[in-house]
Amino acid sequence: MALFRKKDKYIRITPNNFLKGSIGHNIPAVPDELFAQCPACKHMIYKKDLGLAKICPTCSYNFRISAQERLALTVDDGSFQELFTTIETKDPLHFPGYQEKLQKAKETTGLHEAVVTGKALIKGRKIALAIMDSRFIMASMGSVVGEKLTCLFELATVEKLPVVIFTASGGARMQEGIMSLMQMAKVSAAVKRHSNAGLFYLTILTDPTTGGVTASFAMGGDIILAEPQSLIGFAGRRVIETTVRENLPDDFQKAEFLQDHGFVDAIVKRTELRDKIAHLVAFHGGGQ
Ligand SMILES: [Zn+2]
Repeated sequence: MALFRKKDKYIRITPNNFLKGSIGHNIPAVPDELFAQCPACKHMIYKKDLGLAKICPTCSYNFRISAQERLALTVDDGSFQELFTTIETKDPLHFPGYQEKLQKAKETTGLHEAVVTGKALIKGRKIALAIMDSRFIMASMGSVVGEKLTCLFELATVEKLPVVIFTASGGARMQEGIMSLMQMAKVSAAVKRHSNAGLFYLTILTDPTTGGVTASFAMGGDIILAEPQSLIGFAGRRVIETTVRENLPDDFQKAEFLQDHGFVDAIVKRTELRDKIAHLVAFHGGGQ
């Protein structure tokens, strides 16, 4: 009968209560953030196994990473000089909740907007660099994102630098209405002036690159690379299926599908990107 009197000692161990440390004081709690589920193959992965590059060991999916992590993986140590940080985001439409959303994004990401811009060295090659961070309102393109990118292209044109952009975006920022849509034309015009000066522009499409960003500067690169299994598209899958009234292939809007159909030049693993960027910049005579 002792079993019944001391029933608290015999709580059934399930993955749920084990992970939450709710099965007694003698067993240490395991924080949820130790594990991640791969969005592609759905395997649970011990986060340390992802490595610094955050690549799924089972299916090679490249997890989304922050702008800070991308910088650490890509540029020469201590070479990044951030620019255009004083351009402040406005709320032209007084969109309900926009200011709070911006404030929260700034606090959680440590960034002041959805794109980080500046100059850096990659294997000794001088480049103008932009990195979009999907944690900041899904890296949507508002007027500040557009302005920072335009300033970067203008600077690169004057200083004769190649431009490298890591894209990631949910598209135009709806809270800024037409102001966000106008950024597509503004950045594209700056890309064209940079191109007319005979300078090299490289884009690396990361998961996810969609909407107005895909429809403007993301697809304007002289060479377009992508990370494996990244979602790349304009409109969402369901919108297209409803419009064309056809079922789309499973891999539709994946980087591999786009490469097969000529939209992407090469798919490059994150661990090989630094070498590839340095090689392409050098091959096109830039960054000296
Ligand atoms: Zn996986």
